[in-house]
Amino acid sequence: MMGAMTCLFCQIAAGEIPSNQVYADDKAVAFLDINPWHPGHALVIPRRHVADLLADPEALAEIAPAISATAKLLAGKLGAHGVNILSNAGAVAGQEVFHLHVHVVPRYESDPGLRALVKPDSDIDVAEIYWKITRS
Ligand code: AMP
Ligand code: ZN
Repeated sequence: MMGAMTCLFCQIAAGEIPSNQVYADDKAVAFLDINPWHPGHALVIPRRHVADLLADPEALAEIAPAISATAKLLAGKLGAHGVNILSNAGAVAGQEVFHLHVHVVPRYESDPGLRALVKPDSDIDVAEIYWKITRS
């Protein structure tokens, strides 16, 4: 298990590496992403080391109040009209830093919709996927 010595986000949580911290409570810390997708893009992380949301079923609930508080803070202070929250679990999902983090991304009237970021004409069979989840 990766520990505080080597994990970037453990070091940010401990204040050993500087960050633009916007929120903190006893379980979580939120700071601005250094490469934001939209103004105010923040990351919410647990203080303790958890690799991703699949690695520990308790971790997401632990940081949920911080996610909500951060979303509300950013929307209020920056005049955002909406917010996306997203967590990449695993390299195949785009995870690059292997300490659980939830992206909180304020969205504005001028932004392209989320659909602009994803495959527009999906050929995924939703009924088949639903069957796999519920029946197999
Ligand atoms: P992910 O691809 O979900 O693992 O996202 C990792 C995020 O961490 C990226 O959006 C990076 O821009 C961000 N990031 C990496 N290093 C730092 C840092 N030192 N401070 C703030 N954000 C960071
Ligand atoms: Zn860590």
